[in-house]
Order: sequence, then C-alpha cells, then structure tokens
Amino acid sequence: MPQTTHLLNSDHDGLAQAAALLRSGALVAFPTETVYGLGGNARDAAAVAGIYAAKGRPSFNPLIVHVADLDAAELIAVFNDQARKIAAAFWPGPLTMVLPLRPASGIADLVTAGLETVAIRIPAHPVARALLREFGGAVAAPSANPSGKISPTTAAHVMGGLSGKIAGVVDGGACPVGVESTIISLAPLTLLREGGLVREDLTAVLGPLADGGDAQKPNAPGQLTSHYAPAAQVRLNVVTPRPDEIWIGFGDCAGSPLSLSPRGDLVEAATRLFSVLREADALQKPIAFAPIPEIGLGRAINDRLRRAAAPRD
Ligand code: AMP
Ligand code: MG
Repeated sequence: MPQTTHLLNSDHDGLAQAAALLRSGALVAFPTETVYGLGGNARDAAAVAGIYAAKGRPSFNPLIVHVADLDAAELIAVFNDQARKIAAAFWPGPLTMVLPLRPASGIADLVTAGLETVAIRIPAHPVARALLREFGGAVAAPSANPSGKISPTTAAHVMGGLSGKIAGVVDGGACPVGVESTIISLAPLTLLREGGLVREDLTAVLGPLADGGDAQKPNAPGQLTSHYAPAAQVRLNVVTPRPDEIWIGFGDCAGSPLSLSPRGDLVEAATRLFSVLREADALQKPIAFAPIPEIGLGRAINDRLRRAAAPRD
C-alpha cells in the first residue's frame, strides 16, 4: 500500500516521531555506523512481516536485533562470560553476536526465522542509539534497500529505494563505516560474515576465529548453514491432502486443522509461519501445505516452505 514516507530530522522532535511510529507498528529507516537500517519493532510480528514486504525480500533470512544497551540485550539473548567479554570490548559498534534466544524474549518468530538463536547488536551511531533509547525496545533491522539493491548509506539512498513503502527515514547524514556489521557466533567462536569490525581487531582480543559456513560466502551474505527445519516430511501446493497428512490451509480450505491465514492474508500467514510449522511438526505426521500465491510476502513464505520440503540427510 503506498504511503507517505516522512523525512525526519535527527533532533529530539524527529526522534520522538520516529519512536512513536515504531511503537505504532510502522517502519522507520535510521542511520547506523554501518549502513541505514530498515527498522521495525522486533516484538511486533506484523511489523517484522512488513520489513520483508517493503524490501521485497524473497526469503525469510533472520534479521539483526538492535538495542540501546546491554540490559536490553540481556532480555533477549543469553550471555555467558565470553559473550559479556566480547560485548564489553566491541559494543557499541559494528559487531553482531549470534547468541541463544531467551525463551521469554517476546521477539517475533519471523526475526529469528524460527531459530533458537538471535543475532543482536548495539550500534554505535549516536542517532541510532538515541532512537533506540527513545523507543525503549528492540528494533529488527536489515539494510534499508529493496532486496538485491545496494545497501544505503544516506537518507537519500533510502528514499530512492523505499519511498512510499515505509513510514519514515531519520536523516543522520552519511554512514561512517558503509559496510554491514561483522557477525560472529560463539562456542566455538566463528566468523559468520566479514563486516565493519575487521578480523584483526577481533582476533587481537579474542584469539583465532573459525570461518563460518555459507553465511560468509561473498555472493550469499544472507545464506545460513542451518535453518529451522521440521522433522516431518513436507509437501507443497497440496489441494487434496492424503489421510495421513496434517493439511495446513491458506484461505478457504475447508477441513484443514491448521491454517496460516483462514482469510488468505499474506501478512498474517508470514507472522504465523514458524509457529504453525512447529505446531504441525509436534503432531509427528507428514505435513501438506495448501498453495500460497507467489506474490508479495508469498514469495518469501514459499521459499521457506520449499526449503522445509527439500530432501535432507
Ligand atoms: P542483514 O539483515 O542483511 O544484515 O543480514 C543479517 C545477517 O545475519 C544474515 O546474513 C543472517 O544470515 C545473519 N543472522 C541473523 N540471525 C542469525 C542467526 N540466528 N544465526 C545465524 N546467522 C544469523
Ligand atoms: Mg542487506
């Protein structure tokens, strides 16, 4: 739905407006030291679905959660001594840590793509920090560009790509780093993506790092080696389920015991995708999904379902 995208100042009034928009479930782009992020309330599933829709992202890769301080981070992820040491050394800054998700975090499934880990960081940019403090919660934010386009480092870049698709952009000038954050996971310490914090600075404090899996392939920055995958067999585009299958509906599917969205709404279907997969999986029967239209958010939903249905060892 086209909307007016407000260009907001990074002064107190502008940040108060941006925080109010985030609280209302709207999307606001904001500067970080790496690139401009497209932010939505990480605890609001519909807002997070909106991030994918605005970017036209064809897959539900997990998003990075941005918070103002360590107290907010500890509400979301489980920190051990090593994680605290890394946080003390590099936060705020262009480093993202993948940590175990705290069960009562309230973070929407779509943020973690159903995983039990969460990617989290405290950005150093003063405008990002002020916005996060003013908002008070957790903001999920990928780069603020249409999927497949170059990451934006000015408010004008963001406007060029997303004007009409998001509620606002906070103008904080050009991003000083200009590349995405470095991503690591712990136990063992692994570099998942090269980024704004250089490897040498990391190893100087942490010692040697293992290289990650697919996540650090230059052509596939969003690819994960592990995705949430149900144990059960999954079939797609099923109009007539077999008697042994759990049929998961979309739209009008009389007799389906579970549905992504009885009214055929793709935003609702996206927000329910991972919880429905889990619910169906717990029944320990093969799963059959009704057809989902390959438009808008339907493309990302189908991408995830195709991965769930793909043969694996
Ligand atoms: P972007 O939002 O485009 O900066 O990309 C976020 C990156 O973080 C992607 O490469 C994701 O694969 C990675 N990521 C986010 N959450 C996780 C997670 N729980 N485990 C591993 N990688 C993650
Ligand atoms: Mg990006």
